Amino acid sequence: MVIGSGIAGLSYALKVAEKFPDKKIIILTKTSADETNTKYAQGGVAVVNDPEHDSFEKHIEDTLIAGDGLCNERIVEIVVKEGPDRVNEVIAWGAKFDKDQEGDFKLGKEGGHSAFRILHHKDITGKEIERALLAAISRSSNIQLINHCFVVDIITQHHLGYLVTKSTPDIECYGVYVLNLQTNTIEKILAKTTLVATGGNGQVYRTTTNPSIATGDGVAMVYRAKGRIENMEFIQFHPTALYEAGVRGQAFLITEAVRGDGGILRNRNGEAFMEKYDSRKDLAPRDIVARAIDSEMKRTGTENVYLDCRHMGKEKFLEHFPNIYEKCLSIGIDIAKDMIPVAPAAHYSCGGIKTDEWGRSSIINLYACGECASTGLHGANRLASNSLLEAIVFAHRCYIDATETIQSISLKETIPDWNARGTSRPKEMILITQSLKELQLVMSDYIGIVRNDIRLQRAMRRIDLLWEETEQLYQTSTLSPQLLELRNLISVGYLIVKGATFRKESRGLHYNTDYPDKSDLVQNIVL
Ligand SMILES: Cc1cc2nc3c(=O)[nH]c(=O)nc-3n(C[C@H](O)[C@H](O)[C@H](O)COP(=O)(O)OP(=O)(O)OC[C@H]3O[C@@H](n4cnc5c(N)ncnc54)[C@H](O)[C@@H]3O)c2cc1C
Repeated sequence: MVIGSGIAGLSYALKVAEKFPDKKIIILTKTSADETNTKYAQGGVAVVNDPEHDSFEKHIEDTLIAGDGLCNERIVEIVVKEGPDRVNEVIAWGAKFDKDQEGDFKLGKEGGHSAFRILHHKDITGKEIERALLAAISRSSNIQLINHCFVVDIITQHHLGYLVTKSTPDIECYGVYVLNLQTNTIEKILAKTTLVATGGNGQVYRTTTNPSIATGDGVAMVYRAKGRIENMEFIQFHPTALYEAGVRGQAFLITEAVRGDGGILRNRNGEAFMEKYDSRKDLAPRDIVARAIDSEMKRTGTENVYLDCRHMGKEKFLEHFPNIYEKCLSIGIDIAKDMIPVAPAAHYSCGGIKTDEWGRSSIINLYACGECASTGLHGANRLASNSLLEAIVFAHRCYIDATETIQSISLKETIPDWNARGTSRPKEMILITQSLKELQLVMSDYIGIVRNDIRLQRAMRRIDLLWEETEQLYQTSTLSPQLLELRNLISVGYLIVKGATFRKESRGLHYNTDYPDKSDLVQNIVL
């Protein structure tokens, strides 16, 4: 069983289906199959492709620098070196990346990369990958893709009446309970192995580049099942989401590749300010750029800065970024004449479900890969365009391990049905929507790009209250996606604040003004 139809879930399912044509693979998604973070990826896939100007060593070095001392070096090497083979598989499944007239890939460059190595499909790389993988899935006869099936919880010994705690050594996964949104019933689906590929959690913040599905469900359910979660405090804020006054929720992303091609950040006075913050100027790593923008906004009292592309040439811009051009034009911004208003938005979760080098979580027969996993690749900060790569490399590794072990696993047939006794429809949706707004405000105001101890304590007190109220609602209500997502987001918020509270230093994406320096103690925070 696969939970999630982004790049991680789909590429894993395709591999397993091919290896075992007689086995049935189920992919569950909570909305429609293509509504994923994957679909919105713009920049592309970082992979070493031009041996004359690039090397594995350089890609490894760039990843380690971005990760700020916290990457697992072995995992970095695995991902970088196995990357080219995995990307070739995605191409074989039908994804097309831009090529020049000689037939060579057009390679992009993004912040923190020392070479041109980003394969892309115009500025809609994720959409192209999602299209190709879904087409390949539809050609497979032993994959069943079930949409509108919301996974509520992972089934473990806990559901058989045993006491399961964080120190239980052999927690096992037997399948999941799902809310079938077609029938509005809770069903159990049993599986020999389960892959969690549920993506990110950007929706825990008020402004995010992530779509509405990104509510950290996988992380929250594994945490409830007493699995290990790691480094949740490292949330990457994309420096340049399109700023539209009064617009909440998913913000349109202006990819870093625009700065790679020459776009310049300017403050409200028209000054190019990045040189004040970093010698790499506009191509410094994302955390540095996001903090610089945050500081300029606070200094000048504005809600945004500007990305100046006027000098880049309309034809060239249109060729590489047609989607961004159209979006800007639709709100009255002509990039040839106007600067683009931008502001940072929650973008990527570097931490997540702790996995080993084969994608195994701490729960037996439960794998995790893609954005919901913490493999050790990103450390304290993700290098741009390394996440699609990580997803395919680890989908492959999960596949290797799962297909080796699956023959010896049998289905657990004694799982009880879901017990919904004593629950009724919540009388007022406002209880859910208001709590969600409160959570997003607390997270954005107290635990955004810059943190300190007082803000963390305040955030924790408010999250505790929201948790208490939501648990009461959960115990007495029939389940709905809104309630389940709120509950999951509260857990994710709790894990981010908890991780940030334990980390008494500033490193990578975690910046606490009470501890502005990096500690000598290099540690992962495991919860
Ligand atoms: C705007 C944007 C631009 C980006 N650009 C890049 C880029 O250029 N390069 C790069 O490497 N990365 C980029 N990223 C990050 C990258 O897109 C994601 O990290 C990656 O696509 C995540 O893939 P995934 O398979 O892990 O999850 P997703 O693609 O997010 O898929 C998650 C799936 O899980 C399902 N799901 C979630 N919860 C449940 C539940 N409870 N029950 C059932 N199903 C559930 C969803 O329905 C969905 O199918 C970008 C991200 C965004 C948002």
